[in-house]
Amino acid sequence: MAVAERCVTPCARSLVKKVRGWPVFRQAPPMLAFMGVVLLTALVALVPAAVSAPLRLRDTLLFSALVLCAALCVEAMRRLGTPSGLTRDLFGAWWIPTLLLLPPVYSLLIPIPVYLLLQFRIRRTMVHRRVFNAASVAIAGAASSWLFHTVADIPAGEAERAVPEVLFTPSGALLAFVCCALFTVFNTAVITVAVRLSAPDAPWRRLLWDREAVTVDSVELCVGITVAILSGLSVLLLAIALPPVLLLQRSLMYQQLQAAARNDPKTGLLNAATWEREAGTVIEQALRDRQRAAVLIVDIDHFKRVNDTYGHLVGDQILHAVATTLDGQLRPRDVIGRFGGEEFVVLLPETDLADACKVAERLRRRVSALRPLVEGVPIDVTVSIGVALLHVHGDDLVDLMALADLALYRAKDAGRDRVRLPMTGEGLVPGQQRADQAPARRTARGS
Ligand code: GH3
Ligand code: MG
Ligand code: MG
Repeated sequence: MAVAERCVTPCARSLVKKVRGWPVFRQAPPMLAFMGVVLLTALVALVPAAVSAPLRLRDTLLFSALVLCAALCVEAMRRLGTPSGLTRDLFGAWWIPTLLLLPPVYSLLIPIPVYLLLQFRIRRTMVHRRVFNAASVAIAGAASSWLFHTVADIPAGEAERAVPEVLFTPSGALLAFVCCALFTVFNTAVITVAVRLSAPDAPWRRLLWDREAVTVDSVELCVGITVAILSGLSVLLLAIALPPVLLLQRSLMYQQLQAAARNDPKTGLLNAATWEREAGTVIEQALRDRQRAAVLIVDIDHFKRVNDTYGHLVGDQILHAVATTLDGQLRPRDVIGRFGGEEFVVLLPETDLADACKVAERLRRRVSALRPLVEGVPIDVTVSIGVALLHVHGDDLVDLMALADLALYRAKDAGRDRVRLPMTGEGLVPGQQRADQAPARRTARGS
């Protein structure tokens, strides 16, 4: 007994320690609570949904066929590759028939095999993220399924026969469309709340639907309803539905891979090459229209110390938090990118000197108020910012970058955590000295 106790206590302790080390427990408490509520709702909903659904061979067959189609989509994704971060897929093509044609319990179950395949066949990402996403799809699917079957008054066990009939009436088709749209809205809302809780400074424009996302969601909806009608007529017709879905998914993934090549994977901001291209275009336009513009270079202070003290992984999280904060403070037409390392570049179109300094000061203040938590302890993160104005300090992007960099150097020299302009005599006015004659710390293309 004593031997058993001696063994159990250290074993239990090491188990508790191991569980506490799971990445999910590094989430902020509101996020952890939200994830818990979503997962618990999905698990609790399983009980009444399972009890109220009669077990029928035809339902099980259709469910297996839909899972198989989704699995083939996962395999097709694997061959093409997927971009990291939030990706849009076409799995709605399989979720929607499930919610329309089968009792709600199947909508709670179908994400399980699909997300397991995504985790083990596509990319091993943090388990709690996969579980949360699966739970969100499950709840959204089951709720929409329940709504559709209740309002359309489809008797349990007769969905397969009754649903195609319902879908062929105008009111039935409208009801199906509304329920499927609610499924998409609910699922996106849950994910948006989660992203917002984990990154409170994330701009809404990044999270909510843009035109592209609405287009993809509408296509997914139409494809899902079409697949539902076909598979409602005969499960064998899924063989006809699968190839176009695979083709659509392929073009969607290809488009996202192309978009990912523009962005810096660590921060989600534009990468240096894309930023220079986009900023160059804006500057050319500003020169043509005699408009003002400003360039800011933002550099995190003593970032090496952060890495040395807390490690590179924490460093990366702070990099992401600073990027999100900066992005959240800008207008949609401002162009922000990660220039390299711990440096960010911002182009502010139609901005004069006073406004550029105001924006830079606001960015500086917001970052210093960020105080990200590392193991529960807030740490100080500050940035220094150099500002340069078009027509005042330079007449092209290279000059502006070099002058903003000189200004940044001055901000560092003056003690960091501050905003600086180039000194009088640097840049075009008043000495008309060009940036390439000034003692630039480095060129616009890198350290
Ligand atoms: P200063 O205030 O003068 O800017 O000091 P600093 O330490 O920020 O600047 P320094 O140029 O000496 O060091 C920059 C550090 O940024 C060194 C490098 O390890 C770190 N760094 C660059 N890129 C990344 C990254 O992607 N992730 C992490 N975690 N660290 C990075
Ligand atoms: Mg630097
Ligand atoms: Mg630095």
